[in-house]
Amino acid sequence: MKCKCCNKEISAEDAVCSVCGFPNLKGVDDISSDVLQNMVKEYKDKKLGCIRVELLTYDYIIEKGKVVEQSADYVTVCSANELKLQKILWSDMVFEEVPSDRMFKVCIRLVSPDNENTVTLDAEPERAISHGRVGFCLDDGFRLLTAVGNDSNKIYLEAVSLI
Ligand SMILES: [Zn+2]
Repeated sequence: MKCKCCNKEISAEDAVCSVCGFPNLKGVDDISSDVLQNMVKEYKDKKLGCIRVELLTYDYIIEKGKVVEQSADYVTVCSANELKLQKILWSDMVFEEVPSDRMFKVCIRLVSPDNENTVTLDAEPERAISHGRVGFCLDDGFRLLTAVGNDSNKIYLEAVSLI
């Protein structure tokens, strides 16, 4: 069976999910789906609402006919509780092309009141991706899944635990 909140596989004997701590509601039949949805939303907001997902973005200028990096800054993409399972939230940053013969790096930063976690994710695209973005969704067990590309052509990078 799966945790109703973070979707991680849990055992029927567990009182709470070992990853997110949400109660195992096995045997509670009289709970309406509205009540359950509210419980899940409240719990997810409590666990993930304080975590900000940031992406390192670059600015370029053309100098003497060459593309030169001008600045790199972390920008906030969303709060982690806004992320959904499997449904990708694309950031605004657009890149022209990721060639398939080159390693592509994505730097993200997870910021919460008492922690700051910077992660660099490597991707080696099997095919070139043009007009792509970096996007995020939730993976089972409150993990952040990063995607590069667009809805029709994308690759997934290594998942990062949010809690
Ligand atoms: Zn869970």
